[in-house]
Amino acid sequence: GSKIIKSFKEGLKKTRDALGLSQLSGRNVDESLFEELEERLILADVGVKTTLELIDYLKKEAKRRKIKKSDELLELLKEKIKEMLRTCKGELNLNEKPSVILVLGVNGVGKTTTIGKLAKQLKDKEYSVVLAAADTFRAAAIEQLEVWAERAGVRIVKGQEGTDPAAVVYDAIQSIKAKGEDVLIVDTAGRLHNKERLMREIHKIKKVIGREFPGQPAEILLVLDANTGQNAISQAKAFKEITDVTGIALTKLDGTAKGGIVIAICNDLKVPIKFVGIGEKIEDLRKFDPEEFTEALFS
Ligand code: GDP
Repeated sequence: GSKIIKSFKEGLKKTRDALGLSQLSGRNVDESLFEELEERLILADVGVKTTLELIDYLKKEAKRRKIKKSDELLELLKEKIKEMLRTCKGELNLNEKPSVILVLGVNGVGKTTTIGKLAKQLKDKEYSVVLAAADTFRAAAIEQLEVWAERAGVRIVKGQEGTDPAAVVYDAIQSIKAKGEDVLIVDTAGRLHNKERLMREIHKIKKVIGREFPGQPAEILLVLDANTGQNAISQAKAFKEITDVTGIALTKLDGTAKGGIVIAICNDLKVPIKFVGIGEKIEDLRKFDPEEFTEALFS
């Protein structure tokens, strides 16, 4: 409803202010306008590659359609961004019962928070949800996940710090099978600096899941922090070398002026953006909606 759209708009305020597209209203279409537009898109972290693609497109279309006023050009930009982002829209795949969702991401990006928010959303839709604390490297990670399990009102399966993560996942799978639960969300360690080890760990977890549920995990969700800007793209590329990724959850869009990263992620990575985080609270996770997002950038 309109309440959701409003808060989404609030969430994107910093990015919208940084972009300041409304300030370009009433101008003539000339080289200086294109230069300014380019600068603003890059500042908002749309990325050089995607920005140049957009500017190129606008220049061609402005010429072809004989566009003289900036407002018409901005309208065209809006439609182009929507068109781009529509290709990155995606629903969470919960077609199997149970569905296993593996969650990846570097420490600090908001992985635990996103898992908690997602668990709550699914629980509200009558799914029985269980969390597996397979980031066993840090005791704090297990404790944090427990806090979120409690907030969301879902069960958690955990082991001691230092337990084999795949063993925790195995236990979780056995217990959801026994109880007939619907969704298992698996937290994983985020130590990308030890890529070899992380790769082995994730492959082992995937194997344990696939042995019990062929073709699963149903989702491999990568959590990225919008605040890290272009670095989020590098992280995603590194994770994609480790495993396939079926969706992205982009967090902290509320606190950042770098919200243009959504456009760069979509255009560079070609991975569906399934969720966006727009706050720290349990209800602050939204399905990614290209229309809503683009409107919030331009209004
Ligand atoms: P993890 O190390 O990846 O598990 O990260 P956490 O889930 O512990 O989150 C790290 C910090 O980011 C916490 O302070 C969260 O409250 C905050 N955070 C997570 N998602 C969002 C979001 O969408 N918006 C804002 N503003 N903060 C967020």
